[in-house]
Amino acid sequence: MADPITRETRLSKVVGAPAKKLATERDIVTVGDLLDFHPRRYIDVETSGRITDFALDDHVAIVATVVSGTTSRNRASRGSRFEATLVDAEDNEFSLVFFRPYGHEQALQPGRRVLARGKLGEFRRRPQLAHPTYTVLDADAEGSDLDVYAGGLVPIYKATKGITDMGLTKTLKLVLEQLEVGADAVPDHLRERRGLIDEREAYRRLHLPRTLAEVESAKQRLRYEEALVVQTVLAQRRAKYLAEQAVPRTAPKGGLLEAFDAQLPFQLTAGQREVADEIAADMARDVPMHRLLQGEVGSGKTVVALRAMLAAVDSGAQAALLAPTEVLAQQHARSIRAMLGPLAEGGMLGGSAQGTQVALLTGSMTRRQKEKVLLDITTGPVGIVIGTHALIQDEVMFADLGLVVVDEQHRFGVEQRDALRDKAVRAPHLLVMTATPIPRSIAMTVFGDMETSTLRELPRGRQPIETFVVPSTNERWMQRTWQRVAEEVARGHQAYVICPRIGEETPEDDQVLAELERAWREGAVEDGADDAEPPHDEEPPPMRGVHEVLAQLREEPALAGLRIESMHGQLPTDEKDAVMAAFASGAVDVLVATTVVEVGVDVPNATAMVILDADRFGISQLHQLRGRVGRGDAGGVCLLATRNEEAALNRLQKVAETTDGFGLADLDLSLRREGDVLGAQQSGRRSQLRMLRLKQDADLIEQARGDAGELVGDDPELLRYPGLERAVTERLDEQQVAFLERG
Ligand code: ADP
Ligand code: MG
Repeated sequence: MADPITRETRLSKVVGAPAKKLATERDIVTVGDLLDFHPRRYIDVETSGRITDFALDDHVAIVATVVSGTTSRNRASRGSRFEATLVDAEDNEFSLVFFRPYGHEQALQPGRRVLARGKLGEFRRRPQLAHPTYTVLDADAEGSDLDVYAGGLVPIYKATKGITDMGLTKTLKLVLEQLEVGADAVPDHLRERRGLIDEREAYRRLHLPRTLAEVESAKQRLRYEEALVVQTVLAQRRAKYLAEQAVPRTAPKGGLLEAFDAQLPFQLTAGQREVADEIAADMARDVPMHRLLQGEVGSGKTVVALRAMLAAVDSGAQAALLAPTEVLAQQHARSIRAMLGPLAEGGMLGGSAQGTQVALLTGSMTRRQKEKVLLDITTGPVGIVIGTHALIQDEVMFADLGLVVVDEQHRFGVEQRDALRDKAVRAPHLLVMTATPIPRSIAMTVFGDMETSTLRELPRGRQPIETFVVPSTNERWMQRTWQRVAEEVARGHQAYVICPRIGEETPEDDQVLAELERAWREGAVEDGADDAEPPHDEEPPPMRGVHEVLAQLREEPALAGLRIESMHGQLPTDEKDAVMAAFASGAVDVLVATTVVEVGVDVPNATAMVILDADRFGISQLHQLRGRVGRGDAGGVCLLATRNEEAALNRLQKVAETTDGFGLADLDLSLRREGDVLGAQQSGRRSQLRMLRLKQDADLIEQARGDAGELVGDDPELLRYPGLERAVTERLDEQQVAFLERG
């Protein structure tokens, strides 16, 4: 009897050659890795589909019967080739071709059934797979054993060089025969409550299924497990927060907040009032607020956040606003000072008696400037501090930090959030703002340790943005696009031209971020389109860069005489500021830029945006970018230019058709997989959280959330649930947790 195998056992102890292949090709090293390498789909040997269902270049996996085989000499070269003709379950013919016939003639004898995999091509107007991998399925054939597949169901895995699907199944069979699972991650009573099978059986049904119903029950169980593990982590974190002491921060009568409200030039929308009340109620408690405020760009989050900051200041504390970039920090500082007016000049000549001071702290400030600000923060005249990562630095000490507001959460990790929180004597209240509409399931998962508030309406008077898709390979359309830009400028407005990259230089922060974000937002493949392998070999056409486009537009006849400038993350801060200031003041007509203008940049006079290579951006990101125009009362137009005729047009068309950010967020989500949402793409690791489908599994996530809350409520350390405890520590190692929170 061999030693028992556990998830931690190295695969090389169980099998030889396959272990090597799996390690080098797929980074599958332990038994657990292999168990988590899930089939992408299952083929029924009896009814395995038709070759005619696949399109050219598709990755085909099909069971078919050999009808004939011929070896012939190649005219051009000295070699020869073997070509086998096969028929699928419905008698459609196709061929397999091998330019090294050796061995294949024997294996592919007429009458034999094979599982063939390869890329679909065409030869003499007949479908053909060149050099496919295949497995002979007939029991009588040498080296074959159809009985590997108990129910005639063949699990198809992501293709791995040097190992067939059958090879994988055999390996898994070996593993599963000796596998010892410890305590189940899903406690017995919850399995019973939710009608779920145990872990071992789940792996068996996933990898060696007899029926598709078995597969479904396995997936159901694994999805629930994932949801439970994630929700348990979140429940533990919530419990930790709730155990913390905070100082209640409420605005007294006749204070700064009241003065601010009195001078506000507009009425808060009903939604803003509602959210403001939620925040005020949170801040009045002696446990720290953990609230996520989501709302479209321009929905008025900043005003709401500012009111919360004023309440903190009113109660004698300080508030910090953390922004993801210098441009945004500066803009926040400008607009907050403008909104406050004399209230931002407390203690200064001409300032209001009730007023406070607003300080800006960014990395690019000189030592001297910083020292002055740092002193003011430490000693107290400054009530509101706005800044970038610089705020997190050790040297920053607050007199009494009462509220932390984080703008655009996804750019910050929880470590950074916590670093700022640690600067407070008692746990400060925390408000996180995001302009990316977040579907319920993600809110529960990625932001699951927070309460959420949502601003759904935009303040009145905002004009809708019209969006069009422009095929940029069409000269006339592009001409028309630049004319459209010129027309906006002729009406006294301004335009953005957005490029997916800067130019030839090595990418710097902003660019890296944009890229990461794009990957994060775009995800890999559509659910259900499991077989699409990432197109490794096809180099995408080079993306349009800011430098190149700036030069081109300055020569563009339609734009002759216009003042065109550029901005991107590689510019020194003072240049960025100068360009931004020039654009804001109307001294620049057209701004060619990267996604640095994505979040929060506010120039109401900008009414047109052209996004080049729009297919390179994610749906939500396009929506965000487009939010930069139409901020005034003149409406706006957004032109999505793409060279990518097919795949992208459809997606871009959706963006063009709706301005509903929540709808687009849902669409975005449906095009992604869980792992991508949780950052697997960024970390470059195989995500261990990948069974959940955030779109379809919202209810299941909600169930798991309730169950996890219950467990953690009466056993915070999970002492009675060692399986779950282990799963929590194992699966959500530090990095995963960080990514999870970063969203
Ligand atoms: P967000 O931060 O959500 O992108 P902002 O708070 O920056 O939105 O608001 C966008 C613009 O709308 C700002 O110019 C702001 O002054 C204005 N605004 C906010 N709330 C209202 C309101 N209730 N009525 C009219 N204008 C508003
Ligand atoms: Mg804003």
